[in-house]
Amino acid sequence: MERRWIKVTEELADKYALILKDYKAGAFTIEELAGFLAAQPPAELARGLGMQSNTNFLLNRYEEVLAGMVAHAPVTETFLASLQTLDAHIYEGINTKTAAEMQKAVFQAVVGDLNESQFRDLISTETLTPKQMNAQVNDTIRTFQRSVQTEQAQTGPENLQWIWSGPLDDRTSDDCVMMIAEGPMTYAEWQASQWSWALQSGTHFNCRHQLEAFVQQEQIGEVKRAQSVEEGAVKL
Ligand SMILES: [Zn+2]
Repeated sequence: MERRWIKVTEELADKYALILKDYKAGAFTIEELAGFLAAQPPAELARGLGMQSNTNFLLNRYEEVLAGMVAHAPVTETFLASLQTLDAHIYEGINTKTAAEMQKAVFQAVVGDLNESQFRDLISTETLTPKQMNAQVNDTIRTFQRSVQTEQAQTGPENLQWIWSGPLDDRTSDDCVMMIAEGPMTYAEWQASQWSWALQSGTHFNCRHQLEAFVQQEQIGEVKRAQSVEEGAVKL
């Protein structure tokens, strides 16, 4: 994902270099440039730069995520398609907003007489960086996975227990440690607990945790470790 987004920002930097060259050669005035940039719909620039690749990447990853999930209850195609469409709308919005920020950055850079490398610095502060875009995509994928998992927990067997699952390391938030330490509970119990707010969104942006069906005793290992961390007996 990061590579695709780097390509987008590089293509923009190339475009900028051409615009700057033409401007220096007297091909247009600042006023004409402002008019030209303002007349170009951001969505068109977004398409021109291939920004929809992040949306396509996301939708392809959903297929992989679903293929890797254990089904505990049927989830309808309509439900999955709706979740994907909701996310696709958000990404269209991100693309358009980013393209608008890029158009403005092009104008600011020409006015400020910035060279190409200074322009790259400017867009890295004014728009989503490849790293930020990557984090955004990862968070969306995890939230999608949590939504599907939640739907299964809701429609699946009532007595099936779930644990909060994911890496237990120095990046794990205190909230997630506490949730892992809760151990297995039915979905109804999770919903009635103080953690109901985190079941779909995670405890923070880019949270790596989610509900996982408790199907084998070995899963208790991480629960015990989280309890020891909570008690201060073990450090992460
Ligand atoms: Zn987490």
